[in-house]
Amino acid sequence: MEETKICSICGEKKPVDKFRKQLGNKDGLTKQCKSCICEKTRERYKNDLAFRERVKKSVKKWKNNNLKQVKNHSKEWREKNSEKLKKQNRDWRNNNKEHVNTYRRELRRAAKENNNPVFYERERKIKRRYYNKHKVEISRKRKEDRIKNITKYLNKEANYRQKNKYWLSKRFKKYQQENKDKIRNQRAESDYYLIQLLGGNSALLKEYPELIEAKRIQLKIKRELRTINH
Ligand SMILES: [Zn+2]
Repeated sequence: MEETKICSICGEKKPVDKFRKQLGNKDGLTKQCKSCICEKTRERYKNDLAFRERVKKSVKKWKNNNLKQVKNHSKEWREKNSEKLKKQNRDWRNNNKEHVNTYRRELRRAAKENNNPVFYERERKIKRRYYNKHKVEISRKRKEDRIKNITKYLNKEANYRQKNKYWLSKRFKKYQQENKDKIRNQRAESDYYLIQLLGGNSALLKEYPELIEAKRIQLKIKRELRTINH
C-alpha cells in the first residue's frame, strides 16, 4: 500500500510524495503538503513587501547564475504559447494605438538618424504584409481618391515625370529596345492602328467591319514574308 500522511493545514490524507523533504522532522517530511506550502508562500508574496523583495532578489541571482538554462526555458515557453502571446500582443497594441504610434514615430526618427538598415527592412516587411492583407480595399480607396482629386494627381505625376525625365526616358528606351518585336506586334494588332491604316473612314468600316480583319491578315502576311526574305 502507498504510504500517506495527513497535511496539518488542509487536513487531507495525501501520498508522501506530495510533501516536501525536511531533514529536521521525524519522518523527514514537512508537516504541510506541497500545494498548501505553495498557497501560503503565494499569500505571503502578495502581502509581505520585504519577503517579496527578498524573493525577487534571489530569483534574479539564480537567473544570473543559470542564464543559459533560463534562456532555453523561456524560448521553449514562448514557442509553446506563441498563439496566446500573439493574441495578447495584438490586443495590447489595439488598446494602446496612441502609444504604439508615438513609439514607432520615435523609432523611425532614430533609425533615420542612424541610417539603420535593419529597421528599414522591418518597416518594409510590415508595410508589405499590411498591403497584401488589405489589397482590394486599398486599391479601391486609391481609385476613389484619384477621381476625387484628379487635378492634384495629374500635377503630381507631371512633376514626377519632369523631375525624373532623364532616367525615365532611359528606362523607356531600354524597354523599347528589349521589346521591339512585342511592341511592333501589339501595334499591328490594335484595332485603332488598323482603322488609321484604312483611312479612318468610320462609315465605311461600319458597313464592312471585316475590312479590319482583312487588313490585319494582310499585315501578318507581309510580316511573315519579311522574316522569310531576311
Ligand atoms: Zn495541505
